[in-house]
Amino acid sequence: SATPATLAAISNAAKNGILFKGGAAMEALSTMDTLYTDKTGTLTYGDFQVVSYQVDDDLLKEVVYMEQQSSHPIGGAIVQAFKDIDLTRVDHSEAVEEIAGKGVKKGAITVGKPSAFDTYTDPQNFRSLLHAANTTVFVGNDHEILGYISLADQVRPQSAYAIKAFQNDGVDVVLLTGDNEAVAKEVASELHIDHYKAGMLPEDKIAFVLESQDKDQVAGMIGDGINDAPALANADIGIAMGSGASVAMESSDIVIVKNNLAKLYFSYELSKKLNQLIL
Ligand code: ADP
Ligand code: MG
Repeated sequence: SATPATLAAISNAAKNGILFKGGAAMEALSTMDTLYTDKTGTLTYGDFQVVSYQVDDDLLKEVVYMEQQSSHPIGGAIVQAFKDIDLTRVDHSEAVEEIAGKGVKKGAITVGKPSAFDTYTDPQNFRSLLHAANTTVFVGNDHEILGYISLADQVRPQSAYAIKAFQNDGVDVVLLTGDNEAVAKEVASELHIDHYKAGMLPEDKIAFVLESQDKDQVAGMIGDGINDAPALANADIGIAMGSGASVAMESSDIVIVKNNLAKLYFSYELSKKLNQLIL
């Protein structure tokens, strides 16, 4: 069981909005060699705004209905942007399935990134309309892409502070995102993150965590989505955003209640002090 010093550190962290599920995570946090981090909803608000789209009216109704069933921030943004659309004529009997890290599907209709489609479909017809640095989801059936919705998100102000602080302490920060290369590159450069990978699926995120562990390194992972949950569960230190999907929080050792990454670094410092006391 946890020592009084560990309990005091946990209590101090809790007052600062960082919940530790046990003493082990508090003691381990400052031993972290690598911090893998998700992008959407973690380094960014995940508070997307629709900036442009091209989808037929009838298809758009389906999309809005489908995104109502999604827990992804993109879903919420699409529902919000088209909240005045009348959905009464949409077929409510067909189930909507969330494809983790890729999109949503209802019958023959798919909304998501190109790899979400049953047969990979290159959205080349739309390329000229798209701004690379926006997150774009495509709408289509099993045979072709019929439209798109582009969304913009913003970096949380505390992300830059926290990442720099971790880097200064020798933690290797690696961005792992399911989003496209251009968006990943832009966020990485804005936050001075040297290592990033785009187009990551849930299993790819786990692979990174396991690779670090194979090298006997302590791997931290921070995320907010269902797509992050497997990597959060496998990391030595899983850290979830309080605004995230409940499965992300259930899979983690630490929860950042108010999403303030600066407070995570504060807890890391508590962990450092604690280990100096113990050693
Ligand atoms: P990140 O790893 O940065 O948090 P995600 O893995 O959550 O990103 O999402 C990766 C991509 O999957 C999104 O950029 C989007 O293209 C697609 N996607 C995920 N969920 C949805 C959804 N509900 N509707 C449409 N597209 C989605
Ligand atoms: Mg995310």
